[in-house]
Amino acid sequence: MKRTKMSPEEQAKLIEDARVFLEERVMPLEARFGAEGFAGIEADLESLRGELRERGLWAPQMPKTLGGMELSFLDHARLSRELGKSPLGHYVFGCPAPDAGNMELLLEFGSEAQQKEFLEPLARGDVRSCFSMTEPDRAGSNPAWMETTARLEDGEWVINGRKWFTTSADGAGFAIVMAVTDPDASTYARASMILVSTDAPGFIHDRLIPVMGHTGSGWASHSEIVYDNCRVPEANLLGPRGGGFLLAQSRLGPGRIHHAMRWCGIAERAFDLMCKRAVEREVAPGRPLGTRQAVQHFIAECRAKIDAAILYVEHAARSIDERGASASRTEIACVKFFVADVLSEVLDRAIQVHGALGVTDDTPLAAFYRHERAAHIYDGADEVHKTAVARWILREYGLELNAQSK
Ligand SMILES: Cc1cc2nc3c(=O)[nH]c(=O)nc-3n(C[C@H](O)[C@H](O)[C@H](O)COP(=O)(O)OP(=O)(O)OC[C@H]3O[C@@H](n4cnc5c(N)ncnc54)[C@H](O)[C@@H]3O)c2cc1C
Repeated sequence: MKRTKMSPEEQAKLIEDARVFLEERVMPLEARFGAEGFAGIEADLESLRGELRERGLWAPQMPKTLGGMELSFLDHARLSRELGKSPLGHYVFGCPAPDAGNMELLLEFGSEAQQKEFLEPLARGDVRSCFSMTEPDRAGSNPAWMETTARLEDGEWVINGRKWFTTSADGAGFAIVMAVTDPDASTYARASMILVSTDAPGFIHDRLIPVMGHTGSGWASHSEIVYDNCRVPEANLLGPRGGGFLLAQSRLGPGRIHHAMRWCGIAERAFDLMCKRAVEREVAPGRPLGTRQAVQHFIAECRAKIDAAILYVEHAARSIDERGASASRTEIACVKFFVADVLSEVLDRAIQVHGALGVTDDTPLAAFYRHERAAHIYDGADEVHKTAVARWILREYGLELNAQSK
């Protein structure tokens, strides 16, 4: 897809429009999102999404022919930082995980018929989707070792297996499922991706998984799914047979940077709340918290780390724009674990400065903290990325290491 680079003026206007919309229309819904969950505010969110679609502020990563904004990665990174300030930002602007990554997959690998049936309604926001790869009984860090199978029978794929942490499966229209289709092929040619409507026979939504004490709903939830002789047409194979890992890399590469862009926005929001609290909260009459050196150091260190994270994300985004995702894999992997660390530290400091208030649900900090602990785990655990980066670097020095070290 051709991605248009915006002029500095266009970019500034887009960011300002997004900021105003988020502050005036979206952030006021956050308290209800916390209390009632996604299901409680879904109708309000739909009406905001419709408004943004009409204004052309929709799906920054999608081509204009599909109603999107066709932004370059760098422009998208800057917008995403703004959207990340609210947990609802990406959802209302039509670029939430996992839909954004699924749209990119369908755009790149979907057949014409698959794009019509699955991509077009997804890009319009008429349906939601999910991505079903991780299994409870196998280490997600080694996805080549997978139990779920799909076999061809009478022109249909018959899928069997159990998946979990299928984010946003509750109420989704379809899943992209990773399953072993060719058990005798070489390690990375065994699995394929298959499009599965959630009303297909044998698609069983087993449970919503409570995470850090909260069971979400709808888009904001994680599910365990059983595929019990689940049958879908043969034509639902996405991309080449045995191409599951190729597609997964293609989906997760840019996807990782989408998360890191969003994390910078969360860190900015937490930083803003921390600074406001440092000024407002007095520890003695006329002596706000910000007069204390420990708090001053939190503020200075967090500012430096957030700025470093932003510049690093923008560096990786520019690299993807100029050299492609594959040539930028080191930057993408480094950004994933580096920004996750910055996010955790900034959230922790912001909560500390708020004292007991920080662990209540009266500010968004506790919810951010609960949800984003997983930043170190999803889209590849930090350690796996660090090992991969070291492997690519050491290869240049003549040391060859296995992908999955024994
Ligand atoms: C909030 C959330 C949302 C998610 N959404 C989705 C989704 O939509 N779809 C989906 O398919 N999956 C999803 N996942 C699953 C996620 O991709 C996996 O959790 C991840 O790949 C890690 O797999 P695992 O949990 O099985 O951990 P394991 O593979 O069991 O690893 C456990 C820990 O061991 C360490 N470790 C693992 N390998 C190595 C290594 N090589 N070297 C050193 N240390 C290592 C890491 O610290 C890791 O955290 C989600 C997970 C979370 C928490």
